[in-house]
Amino acid sequence: MIGAGLIGSAAARHLAQMGHDVTLIGPGEPADWATHEGVFASHYDEGRITRGLDSMPFWAQASRASIARYAEIEAASGIPFFQEVGGLMAGPDMEAAAQEGRKGQVSFEELTPSKARGAFGFVIPDGFEVLHEAADAGHISPRRLVAAQQRAAAALGCKRIEEVVRHTEDGRVTTDKAVHHFDQVLWAAGGFGAPHLDLPLDVQGRTVTFFEVAGPMPDLPTLIFANGVEIDIYLLPPIQYADGKHYFKIGGGPHDKPLRTEGEMRAWYQSGGDPAAAQALDKTFRALVPDVEVISTHWKPCVTMYAPDELPFIGRLDPATCVATAGNGRGAKCSDELGRLGAMALLGEEDPALAPMRFRP
Ligand SMILES: Cc1cc2nc3c(=O)[nH]c(=O)nc-3n(C[C@H](O)[C@H](O)[C@H](O)COP(=O)(O)OP(=O)(O)OC[C@H]3O[C@@H](n4cnc5c(N)ncnc54)[C@H](O)[C@@H]3O)c2cc1C
Repeated sequence: MIGAGLIGSAAARHLAQMGHDVTLIGPGEPADWATHEGVFASHYDEGRITRGLDSMPFWAQASRASIARYAEIEAASGIPFFQEVGGLMAGPDMEAAAQEGRKGQVSFEELTPSKARGAFGFVIPDGFEVLHEAADAGHISPRRLVAAQQRAAAALGCKRIEEVVRHTEDGRVTTDKAVHHFDQVLWAAGGFGAPHLDLPLDVQGRTVTFFEVAGPMPDLPTLIFANGVEIDIYLLPPIQYADGKHYFKIGGGPHDKPLRTEGEMRAWYQSGGDPAAAQALDKTFRALVPDVEVISTHWKPCVTMYAPDELPFIGRLDPATCVATAGNGRGAKCSDELGRLGAMALLGEEDPALAPMRFRP
């Protein structure tokens, strides 16, 4: 398994649970982003939105399958990572998401913008539609989910090699330190894996802005705000970080930066993010949540990886190699299902109804 992130760690747990001999290869989180010369990942954070509602059937199904297993992963690892605070989705037209929700029997209610403001303080324009998913939705800590998957996998015998992979061929894996041999290899290395794969993957640098507040607001759900013009804005309620402080987090909007090579991606993480994007997000945040007293703000870089049709690539590349990648901005909440589908592809047991196996000619 190449990539000890969200999808790779999930795939490792699933394969170990099925009794296979599994090795998870990949480094941990860098201590100092500004000087780190290796690879980075998209899960170095405490908050990712999770929800069963999605306008695209694949993502709706993959999310619900993953959410249904959160409790099992928490119990197996002893690491809690899910906060069931609920979630809102708002935009000019939410019918596609509502329809998928009804098909999948997701429990949600429709709110008016004024009701959303009264209940949660979010200012959503008049005429927008608002869907509120109160149960089985909220946020996960991607760091803790990775730790939980790895601990559960290790308890089932999964081995770990903390090295960076440079090349793979016919099951031979060359890292920065050694050469290893495996029967089968699964690439699940996120954005930094893209340059190794001959697939139409689009890696974008994104900036997220954090707003320090006095403490937790346990009744506040997450919010996805689609204004129909920019990339959706997403907002997470205050979450406690390692420094003990609580931060709202906002991301999305128009400031993506295309990144093509490993060097460009590394330089993006080392740069600390885009101040202009952070400023735009600051404005959006204060318009969406005007009644909150902000103590301080800061921002960080991250990368998101997209495929042209907004579906992940999961499937076989050659007789010894499979891939499970491209979260399309949704890959944290459904990483357990994406990892499971990657594991099934590796075993040659893809379910065509579930795995979007569409490697184009
Ligand atoms: C700002 C931001 C907000 C997001 N919000 C959400 C959200 O609210 N909800 C949601 O569901 N998703 C969200 N996402 C998307 C989600 O975080 C990603 O889809 C998810 O992290 C993808 O998982 P992954 O395993 O593919 O990649 P990663 O989590 O990036 O893991 C990849 C792993 O591969 C390793 N690796 C890379 N290169 C190599 C190599 N050469 N050798 C060995 N190991 C290597 C890395 O070290 C890393 O551990 C967000 C993403 C960003 C950037």
